[in-house]
Amino acid sequence: MIEGPHDGDHVPAASTGSVITRRVFLRSIGLAVVAAACARPDAEPRVPSVAPTTGAAPRAAGSSAPATTRPSATTTTPTATATTSPPPTSTTPATTHPPTTTTTTATPTTTTSPPTTATPAATLTINPRSAWDASQPVEPRLVPHSGPLRYLTVHHAGDQSGVTGPERFRSWQAFHIDDRGWGDLAYHFIIGIDGTVYAARDIAYRGDTATTYDPDTHFLVVVEGNFDSGAPTESQLERLPVLLAWAAASFAIPTGGIGGHLDYAVTTCPGAELYPYVRDGLRADVDALIAAGGVALR
Ligand SMILES: [Zn+2]
Repeated sequence: MIEGPHDGDHVPAASTGSVITRRVFLRSIGLAVVAAACARPDAEPRVPSVAPTTGAAPRAAGSSAPATTRPSATTTTPTATATTSPPPTSTTPATTHPPTTTTTTATPTTTTSPPTTATPAATLTINPRSAWDASQPVEPRLVPHSGPLRYLTVHHAGDQSGVTGPERFRSWQAFHIDDRGWGDLAYHFIIGIDGTVYAARDIAYRGDTATTYDPDTHFLVVVEGNFDSGAPTESQLERLPVLLAWAAASFAIPTGGIGGHLDYAVTTCPGAELYPYVRDGLRADVDALIAAGGVALR
């Protein structure tokens, strides 16, 4: 197995360095695969164009959404509070504790919402590892993040084959564990051709890469396909911001940390057909989803 200088984390084979070469390899498990065209040794490594912010912005955006959606409920609470607040046994002034007891009862919760108060802007189904029949990770090889997640980094698979979906994902995982010596599939989440989202590596652990960036504190999502030679599907483009909005809100990851692999390493990943959206539109879409109520798992 030839190990290329870049993007070996994407596919069960890496190119030998030619910009456009895609080479067919036969995996030990019998799958014909096509190597990524991601290797671009002559390209300049890009400095991350989106310096991560402190996280205050996305969290503020997320928390401001519910506030704007329930002003009417809030206005009704004072009267209820005035009548239901306990007798003056406490020493705190009555004016300091009205909202707490009545907010929950006055909130127009929907049948689907768990503890969140606002109607979510979108829902997301995350299929478990068992949905793609993932192998067990090699735990001793996995390394926890050194701190809170700071980056939301998008990859493409970078390969082409007639094989898609779970069978494909298993071939990636086998390559990463058996050939690369990593603890698991390199990425935390997969978005399949049809937009289906799958859990992969445990989010608690940093990803892996054969390129030159450090995936510590990166949330890694791989979008199935080769977007140097084709475009992502509509379903994938719809699901990508939803997944990232869920992740940003769930793990307090600043949306300023959204980027593509090529923002950190010499590679064309996530591909010419996807990267412009990652650079120019994805963050706004993610912010809008969070501001509109966020994403609920279902
Ligand atoms: Zn990549």
